[in-house]
Amino acid sequence: MIVTRKIQIACLDKEHYKTLEEMLRTCRLIANKAQTLFYVYWQEIMDQNVKSKDVTAYFKEKYGYSYQQTIYHNLRKQFPDFPSRLTDDVISQGNKTFKADLKNGLLKGERSLRTYRNGIIPVRSQTSKIEQTEDDYVFSWIKHIKFALVFGRDRSDNKSIVERIIKGEYKMSDSKIIRDWRNNKKPKWFLLLCVDIPERENALDENIAIGVDLGIAAPAVCALNQGKARAFIGDMILLKRFAMQKQHRTRQRNFIPANGKHGRQKVDKAIYKMGDKERRFVHSFNHKITREIIKFALKHRASKIYTEDLSGYDSNQTILRNWSFYELQSMLEYKAKQQKIKLIKIPAKYTSRACSACGHIDKENRKTQSKFKCTSCDFEANADYNAALNIARGGVKIPKDLLTSEESDE
Ligand SMILES: [Zn+2]
Repeated sequence: MIVTRKIQIACLDKEHYKTLEEMLRTCRLIANKAQTLFYVYWQEIMDQNVKSKDVTAYFKEKYGYSYQQTIYHNLRKQFPDFPSRLTDDVISQGNKTFKADLKNGLLKGERSLRTYRNGIIPVRSQTSKIEQTEDDYVFSWIKHIKFALVFGRDRSDNKSIVERIIKGEYKMSDSKIIRDWRNNKKPKWFLLLCVDIPERENALDENIAIGVDLGIAAPAVCALNQGKARAFIGDMILLKRFAMQKQHRTRQRNFIPANGKHGRQKVDKAIYKMGDKERRFVHSFNHKITREIIKFALKHRASKIYTEDLSGYDSNQTILRNWSFYELQSMLEYKAKQQKIKLIKIPAKYTSRACSACGHIDKENRKTQSKFKCTSCDFEANADYNAALNIARGGVKIPKDLLTSEESDE
């Protein structure tokens, strides 16, 4: 199984950013020119009525190379100083894309010829090496380029993957370098590290569990019982849904009976359809959320998923009002079962008030809807993540003095 991890990189020699910049620009140029050439030569194949099994022979006779190689040599002439294997990699990637576009109706005009605005630099595993130095993980590549891998908060636990590559347990496969174009003044560079993980490694680990906190700000927040990995799932989707609800309401409010029966029926139908559309949306929304939760669990080889048992909550609770929570939980149940992951429901009590660092329980811990700050140890975190972490550990141990109190959570 090949997984891809996005890791920020920092060139050891600042001059190399210019080299990367230049490489990226040339890769983009080549990628775009290649698309045009693939298209032009393909037109020729069509014009000449060359059968697909004869394409290679046709090109070899006319140009001396195969279809893809003809394009490669054409572009090599245009960029003679550019590393040939980069040119080759960009073109073969482009060929795959072009073929996919052909299938999807490029020649029928259902799809336009692809242009790349951002570009990627292909990185071959054979020309790469990762080493651990005294205080860095250093990636050495062609043209003497070396960069440090920057893990930051490392919520996906990328460091352990890199360590296993160094140990030889995992194999790096062909990867990519990209630049973050959202911030042009201070660009960030990333390695999209592709890693080949042996299948037997995918077995679930009895000691690993994830916790899922279901809420509104982020519909589902996942935490791992060990390490820092986490996932915030679905907030953008929820926003879209609210927009749709609003649109629905506006339509109803602006409803003006049209002249004649025909017009009115039309408007009624539109409102009915919207309601139906929304119901379908909730259903596919639940599918998306649960799929992502399972993905997170499998990625970390978790054998258990802990979630709060919210069956005691009354139906006026925001959670229940905003999306069909029961559907979500039952979907999660059967999808977990398919993967042989245990789904365990735990009492919801105190999961959002307890500190995941020291265990201190206090109403004041949760300062706002989104922020958690422990009044005892000053631990700070996103409130949903703190709750998810408590859940991932199987819930909160309630001290004796709280057991008797009437206090209820939220
Ligand atoms: Zn604390």
